[in-house]
Amino acid sequence: MDANATQRLTQMDAYFYIDNQRVPAPAGQTIDVIDPADGTVFGQIARGSADDIDQAVQAASAAVGEHLDGPWGLTSARDRGRLLMKLGDAVLERADELAQLEARDTGKSLRTAKADVMALARYFEYYGGAADKLQGETLEYETGYMVVTLREPHGVTGHIIPWNYPMQIFGRSVGAALAAGNACVIKPAEDASLSSLYLAELAAEVGFPSGVVNVVTGYGHEAGAALSAHPGIHHISFTGSTATGQRVAEAASRNHRPVTLELGGKSPQIVFEDADLDAALPVLVNAIVQNAGQTCSAGSRLLVQESIYEDVVNQLAQRFRELRSGPPAQSLDMGPLVNKRQYDRVRELLEVARQEGLTVAARGQIVPDAPEGGYYQEAVLLRDVPPASVLAREEIFGPVLAAMPFRDEAHALELANDSEFGLVAGVWTRDGARQLRLARRLRCGQVFINNYGAGGGVELPFGGVKSSGYGREKGFEALYGFTVLKTVAIRHD
Ligand code: NAD
Repeated sequence: MDANATQRLTQMDAYFYIDNQRVPAPAGQTIDVIDPADGTVFGQIARGSADDIDQAVQAASAAVGEHLDGPWGLTSARDRGRLLMKLGDAVLERADELAQLEARDTGKSLRTAKADVMALARYFEYYGGAADKLQGETLEYETGYMVVTLREPHGVTGHIIPWNYPMQIFGRSVGAALAAGNACVIKPAEDASLSSLYLAELAAEVGFPSGVVNVVTGYGHEAGAALSAHPGIHHISFTGSTATGQRVAEAASRNHRPVTLELGGKSPQIVFEDADLDAALPVLVNAIVQNAGQTCSAGSRLLVQESIYEDVVNQLAQRFRELRSGPPAQSLDMGPLVNKRQYDRVRELLEVARQEGLTVAARGQIVPDAPEGGYYQEAVLLRDVPPASVLAREEIFGPVLAAMPFRDEAHALELANDSEFGLVAGVWTRDGARQLRLARRLRCGQVFINNYGAGGGVELPFGGVKSSGYGREKGFEALYGFTVLKTVAIRHD
């Protein structure tokens, strides 16, 4: 394994990246970086405090300017876009290094990490291209007036990033915020900070001015809480758990700051008896095992029409038995889970399944050469899961699929919408009218018909309803969230 990036980032004093410089962590203020593949410590990151967050916010404020008149505030949309595209190119040039770094830090299989790098580059390319297409309007008003709207940046945006897709979420949220003209303070997850540090430095290398991209690593309850509560932050983008999202929104509300919350889900995949099963089955499997199930939009509830239920469960069971978990470098179906806490959580929920008397239809395998101390969890297919079961209701964030039968379309819809969450839904049917009815009636932020996830969909607005959160990331829509609309009325007669 090419250890360049890992060495660069971990075999040195731990640091924050503020004002285009490495700022060393105060003595003793570090957090171990643990390799999920074997549980060993392979570096340290800095443990940020409220003071460190404050320093980063000040750097970002100076870059954007109190009156949007700082060096970044005065940078044209065209030039912001060009910088983002350069950043996308630089990511592609370093693709292997970044993928290896991310795989080591998060445990995800190298194959998945490589796909994440491609998505990251695409976010920078997409938002680079979009920067100078973000426009206001002219409004018809009373005679003698000209009224225009301006889409302005918030100023300084805060980005709290989780550990499951650190690079992709950096790309979608920081990419859009920069395109819109904001300066960013990023708090990556304590379990997966290395790629954010790397990307901040890469941004400086391609020419982003000082203070535009700042990274403060550290714990959520310290650095994350300080960022959410900082009055110098004008908007917060958060992806993570429902409980933490609520805390972040509460803290931000004390300063009347808007937030975007992307809080995961319990997304249903609905398979009707007229579905093309050859097309559906591999997608159903991938939707739950991708990134070892640690995906906010994982298709974790499987609803199958009762006439084909046995057949589908049997075919899926066969596929689940062949799924292999192992070290990231082997690029198997899954790597280990990210950390011991997540591993314990998944094990606990599987214990609940056992206590509830649920039936395991199939288990995957952990390869024999997987190191002892790693957080490996085999894929599990549970069948006949009652809708009221904890396993049908809670986000597990592991490779566990809960299957249940339904009678007809009305029953499927009732089961699908019977969830605290509402992020994504998948529908598999050849009936065109049914496709349209369900597309309208499913209560969630994205519906996929005869596909799932649309291969990532950088261009497709993404976000939830209910406890899955609010606001939209991805696509052009995200840019609106990272701007404030100002109305200017000019009287000329
Ligand atoms: P979390 O929500 O606590 O962590 C996400 C981010 O929030 C991290 O950067 C963390 O440092 C930060 N954070 C934590 N406490 C904070 C606080 N008080 N103020 C501000 N920021 C804070 O998630 P977790 O504890 O790592 O994982 C728990 C569960 O959350 C998982 O099992 C999974 O169900 C869910 N999760 C969802 C997503 C998603 O993509 N929607 C991502 C990660 C985890």
